Amino acid sequence: MPRYLDYAATQPMRQCAIDAWVDAAGSLNPGSAYGSGRKARSVLDDARETVAELLGCEPIEVVFTSSGTEADNIAIQGLFRAGSDTTPHIISTPIEHPAVLETVDKLRAEHGATVDLLPVDSTGHVSDLAALDTPAAVATCMWANNETGAIQPVADIVQRAAAQSTPVHIDAVQVTGKLPINFHELGATTLAASAHKFGGPRGIGLLLARRTPAPQPIAFGGGQERGIRPGTVDVASASALAAALRESVADMEQETARLSALRDKLKAGIESSIDNVIINSVEPTLASHLHVSFPGTDGDSLIMLLDASGIEASAGSACHAGVNRMSHVLEAMGIDEEHGRGSLRFSLGRLTTDEDIDAVLAELPELIRRARSV
Ligand code: PLP
Repeated sequence: MPRYLDYAATQPMRQCAIDAWVDAAGSLNPGSAYGSGRKARSVLDDARETVAELLGCEPIEVVFTSSGTEADNIAIQGLFRAGSDTTPHIISTPIEHPAVLETVDKLRAEHGATVDLLPVDSTGHVSDLAALDTPAAVATCMWANNETGAIQPVADIVQRAAAQSTPVHIDAVQVTGKLPINFHELGATTLAASAHKFGGPRGIGLLLARRTPAPQPIAFGGGQERGIRPGTVDVASASALAAALRESVADMEQETARLSALRDKLKAGIESSIDNVIINSVEPTLASHLHVSFPGTDGDSLIMLLDASGIEASAGSACHAGVNRMSHVLEAMGIDEEHGRGSLRFSLGRLTTDEDIDAVLAELPELIRRARSV
């Protein structure tokens, strides 16, 4: 069995989610008025109520989507459509996931949006909120970065934007099930999450959306999910999502402490056994993430060498047309190509053990030495 250290990419389904999915797999169309429709509807209603209770919102504010990517797209495009007549302006950050980055870019290139990016400092945290003092159709920021794990000042962002009545979308895909979330207390307009990041199935996500201002739909059809995300809902996956969320919230405190200790051990071990490393995960960060650059290497080779040693991790860098380039996140942190091109993201989760960390620490120094010698 490979040692899997890429939980930020996805994680194995929790047994409770598999059980919930199997139990509800026979559900028919929850929109049908007859008995089997009502039965499916009741499973879906239970899932919606569970999500609402765990994330601090009303059931009506829970919109099931097909992914985190779809939730981000609906929120950003939909809020832009709702508000762009008066303020065709968007505020974002340079470290967003492509689901946000490319959506904002599309609105700029094809729909005349003007875009301001909140700057990020060398630790990967949004450092200046002044751009929020200009009204916008939507401001969007991730709660924690998927590469470094850096936790962003989302409460401050929501508060600052409120003074201009700017709706705020929060991409909470990396934090859901890892940090406490109370949608109403946060005061955001919309929030995106994705089941497979907290042990639910791949292929189902969540958008929390206040009644008003609500995003305008970007797809059309039946009126499901308040018309915000039309299409027949996958009842079995919604039920599995709710079960996974319940378990991850219940285990959150204990898991955070356990993963912090493992992550700190990995970090200390890397720093003491390998020269010239740059730790890119700087507090406040998620306990699950450790992003490290090894100058003199390149990310793709590191992944292959690790894979050959039975360790699965990610480069945290994007591959553009076959060229291994440094990630936009490191670039925004002011790291240059020479230092950032050879980077690894280790992301830990509920099945990560002490032995997994020992195995990485046993292999990595020699592997970096080989990568540096070519
Ligand atoms: N936003 C962030 C911060 C992510 O990390 C991801 C997935 O890696 C997404 C959005 C997209 O989620 P999904 O894989 O469900 O489309």
